[in-house]
Amino acid sequence: MILFYFPDSVDVINPSYCFSEEEHELGRRRMISEAYPHEVYEHPPYDGMLVSKAIVDTRYTMAQRQRVMRQGIRRFLRLDSEKHKNLKIIGDCGAFSYRNDPEPPYSVTEVIDFYDGLGFDYGISLDHVILGYEDEDDAEYLIFPDGDKQAREAGYALRQSTTLRLANEFLHECKRRSVSFYPMGVAQGWSPKSYANAVEQLQNMGYDYIALGGMVPLKANEIEACLRRIQKVRKENTRFHLLGISKIDDISTFSQYGVVSADSTAPLLQAFKSDCNNYQLGYHNYIALRVQQTGENHKLKKMVLSGIVPQDVARRMELECMRLLRDYGDYKAEAIEVLEALCQYEALLTQKKKIKNRAQYLLTLSERPWEKCECPICKELGIQVIIFRGAERNRRRGFHNLYNYYGILKDKRTLNSHHDS
Ligand SMILES: [Zn+2]
Repeated sequence: MILFYFPDSVDVINPSYCFSEEEHELGRRRMISEAYPHEVYEHPPYDGMLVSKAIVDTRYTMAQRQRVMRQGIRRFLRLDSEKHKNLKIIGDCGAFSYRNDPEPPYSVTEVIDFYDGLGFDYGISLDHVILGYEDEDDAEYLIFPDGDKQAREAGYALRQSTTLRLANEFLHECKRRSVSFYPMGVAQGWSPKSYANAVEQLQNMGYDYIALGGMVPLKANEIEACLRRIQKVRKENTRFHLLGISKIDDISTFSQYGVVSADSTAPLLQAFKSDCNNYQLGYHNYIALRVQQTGENHKLKKMVLSGIVPQDVARRMELECMRLLRDYGDYKAEAIEVLEALCQYEALLTQKKKIKNRAQYLLTLSERPWEKCECPICKELGIQVIIFRGAERNRRRGFHNLYNYYGILKDKRTLNSHHDS
């Protein structure tokens, strides 16, 4: 069984947001009136959260940083109730954020102070990510000239040895200070063999819960190749965590190799970062219906200023799209007239005649997937959840995706446990 951790990146919603007025309730206080997914859903759509030092240092406001220091991480995330006490919190450094630096910007002591001071359940050792993958590490190397490969691998090896040195220091320091969190090692590699090498060394230091880092860009078969190679050195009680991996189809395969947990923001981010897979229902993907806010689009502001697009025309079309979508949600408009309005508005904004997402828009409209979801967000918002517009709608759609993702994961677990017994 693989536990799913949701990485915090301050993705919260304001429950009192008014969609018809499109503004926040007056006098709201940041974070107090804002809700995490585990506060929106009766059952949290994850088994725990992961918080990185880099996020706290850069994305939290000064007031939030002071509050988390005072309250500790559990209370700050409002996971301190009886209902949420089983959700574990993992701390990590956020190595991706300093991937271009020659060395990690933190000291081992700073990181331990962060984990221990804030009361994390698990703490991942300080690491330096390797962004590169070479498949055929056991074969003769034919594709790249030798010089390139050697130089590249020297760079990778340096980052791996930094990561291992820090892991060793980290574990010694954790033992010396008898910290209250459970230390996790982290393996960085660039090939199945190098990952196995890192795991072997971490086990020798004394780690039995090891995070595998730098695998985000890897395909599922490449991750499996690494896990298979790691299997050769894995001690019986060693467990793994996959950093940044959500590949749901392969979760049961990964669990055969000792993977017990993973984390990923992908289900949430897809809601507003993906070109066309913005709303998931089961395994189906739908595009969200884009209606840009005339007041908040920089490109549009420029076009208005330079006289290419008349402001009032754009605004009128925008409002007409919103009205038609609301009506369509209430069965008072036809799909085709909504589609035409959306495409005409988009054509005005992009100054292109052809709307490349036209067919996908029509599919979203005609299948009405938001009506098929039982989650409180879709029940309450209706068609609004699938409109690509502003952080409040987009994040709610992200929460829905998280709920959908976790639902599939839970089904797979049940299936596996029946299979196992
Ligand atoms: Zn939903």
